[in-house]
Amino acid sequence: MSESKINLVGQTRDELAATVVGLGEKAFRAKQLWHWIYYRGETDFTKMTTLAKSFRETLAGSCEIRRPETVTAQLSTDGTRKWLLRGKDGNEFESVYIPEEDRGALCVSSQVGCTLTCAFCHTGTQKLVRNLSAAEIVGQIMVARDTYAEWPSPPEGRMLTNIVMMGMGEPLYNYDAVAKALTIAMDGEGLAMSRRRITLSTSGVVPMIERVGEELGVGLAISLHATNNELRDVLVPINKKYPIDELLAACRAYPGSSNARRITFEYVMLKGINDSPADARALIKLLHGIHAKVNLIPFNKWPGSDYECSEPETIEKFADLLNNAGYSSPVRTPRGRDIMAACGQLKSASERERGQRVLLDASSVV
Ligand code: SAH
Ligand code: SF4
Repeated sequence: MSESKINLVGQTRDELAATVVGLGEKAFRAKQLWHWIYYRGETDFTKMTTLAKSFRETLAGSCEIRRPETVTAQLSTDGTRKWLLRGKDGNEFESVYIPEEDRGALCVSSQVGCTLTCAFCHTGTQKLVRNLSAAEIVGQIMVARDTYAEWPSPPEGRMLTNIVMMGMGEPLYNYDAVAKALTIAMDGEGLAMSRRRITLSTSGVVPMIERVGEELGVGLAISLHATNNELRDVLVPINKKYPIDELLAACRAYPGSSNARRITFEYVMLKGINDSPADARALIKLLHGIHAKVNLIPFNKWPGSDYECSEPETIEKFADLLNNAGYSSPVRTPRGRDIMAACGQLKSASERERGQRVLLDASSVV
């Protein structure tokens, strides 16, 4: 029965070797198994022809190679794809694939919901249900590879080239599982995602930032969104615990940051809230001495949000000020808005449906 089987996805190399030994085989067989799971994307043990038939049968009897179940997959008119995935316990989470001309990024979730309550974020209105496991995190990448038939991944012209930990949840509140999943994703004999093509975004869990640089070496993105503590306390409430100066000190000390590897500062453009030229100048001052670039994100509306997106001219002016001060500041084109896949719009459909059901119930009473 599937419940009692060991899921091999999400196990580190050492854990996989221990599993193999536990099944009575030599540890080095784990290397071959790893290749089948993460290089070839194979899910059927009987097809693993480099392994002895008897071992394949043992594996099939006690183990499985399982991705999260796909509940729905939606395709936006702009090519963005969103998967609603389900864990074994029925909890749901989302991943989004964003194609660009010469590359494609997968936006990966780390939690079901989020404990933090950033004022402008849809995910923040869903309370934390639980952390995702390493299997569920790396499984999101495998689901995308399945969809785009990239097993083994082609050396040129891959659809899936980049990973951004920017989906549901705060990755640094689920560090162990995230670190495990990314270590698996970066393994050169498997999914082989380069750390240079992985970015982890945090709302500012200061004590964990150094470990991200030291242990993972991936790119860092900071959800800054405000230039003074008074406003950031409201927009990104974790600021009350780790205020701006502490956050920026952690960025200055980020291992591996350089001009070639700049830290990204995400800044959501909220009309009349944080989008004035004075805000842009304050931002320039704050970033002084940091190898930084700024990602300006037009606010994506969701049902029930009070904020408005800044006018295009306001965003342009803001970007010009930053660019003129030497900070590359692209404006992120909203993607997949039609399927609620854009930044900050993710929230499990089950939660949304529950909300809608409440509304329907209420209206039927009236
Ligand atoms: N929890 C992490 C990872 C999520 S990343 C973090 O906060 O960094 C998602 C990015 O989109 C964050 O920068 C987040 O602040 C931003 N975001 C959230 N809601 C948004 C919205 N409605 N419109 C635009 N960006 C939003
Ligand atoms: Fe959580 Fe990030 Fe949304 Fe804030 S922006 S509520 S940290 S997912």
